[in-house]
Amino acid sequence: MPLVLLAALLLAPAALLNAQSKNVDMYWVDVEGGAATLIVAPSGESLLIDSGFAVGDRDAKRIYAAAQQAGLKKIDYFVLSHFHADHAGGLAALSKLIPIGRFYAHGDDVETENQQWLDSFKTASSGKYTIVKPGDKIPVSGLQVLVVASNEQLLPNPVNGGGPNPLCAEAEQKAASAPENRRSVGLLLSYGKFKYLNLVDMDWEKEMELVCPINKVGKVTLYQTGRHGSFDDAGAPALLGAIQPQVVVVNNGPRKGMGQNAPIKSDNPPGKHVAPYEANTYLRLSKTPRIEGVWQEHKSLIDPDPQHNTAEDMIANLDDAGDHKGNWIKASVEKDGKFSVTNSRNGFSKTYKAR
Ligand SMILES: [Zn+2]
Repeated sequence: MPLVLLAALLLAPAALLNAQSKNVDMYWVDVEGGAATLIVAPSGESLLIDSGFAVGDRDAKRIYAAAQQAGLKKIDYFVLSHFHADHAGGLAALSKLIPIGRFYAHGDDVETENQQWLDSFKTASSGKYTIVKPGDKIPVSGLQVLVVASNEQLLPNPVNGGGPNPLCAEAEQKAASAPENRRSVGLLLSYGKFKYLNLVDMDWEKEMELVCPINKVGKVTLYQTGRHGSFDDAGAPALLGAIQPQVVVVNNGPRKGMGQNAPIKSDNPPGKHVAPYEANTYLRLSKTPRIEGVWQEHKSLIDPDPQHNTAEDMIANLDDAGDHKGNWIKASVEKDGKFSVTNSRNGFSKTYKAR
């Protein structure tokens, strides 16, 4: 081997040398009903979406532990979906534990009571902050990460095979909720056939705008539930039926998100529903056409009925906060679209094939 080539190989980062054999690894870090999704591309570049709560640096430490598990020395890209405590809270502590390359968010509009989260984001990002709009890409090497929503704006035209959505005619509309959730940065990640959609805390009204009358995002492989699985503020059946997720990850907490289901409102006009119109999140997801698996960060302790939660093997944390270790759910995606989802609590794993 020529000396120059040998020297280059010795200097190349390990991630680069392993690039051919690696998968896309995705970790849903347990942040007790907040959000923190860490994604590591085969290139070795990493993307973190949201940073959980502040709560005594608990979530920053859990994200850092996942980053260590993934062998990361830095987080290349950080997307903050919106300025709420359950998404932005962990950033100040995390940015002291591990370097973060570039920062993305929806802009500087913020609710008065959440000004502190914009301020801490500005401090952590210190001049490395890009405001994103629909159609922008987060430049993770080897992945396509498309911004589909930001600051209440949505993609103007369909992508990923999207088109007219026949479910819209009978679908129920709801009034818009408070602005910050509606400003959530939504992302569609593509790696070959595998598509991951994360609309974060987008509300029902905005979901309907995204898929009616035209489904702008097409069908997806893995969907991270809106509002931590707190339906009916999100999870419109016309969205679920249009995106037809194969696998869903619910990033709930023991007492937050899934289980906080609003009852079906009596003022809904009769018949103006798209099936499955189940008030319970798990039932609605499990009856969505072509779904193959639902995984939960937590068993819901608001609604612990086994019929209202997925199979126990597919739940990462069964107990209340403090009694568990912050187990994560991980997906590992191969180049051909085969992917496995694993529960770190018990090692239980299932393999799927992206359609
Ligand atoms: Zn949230």
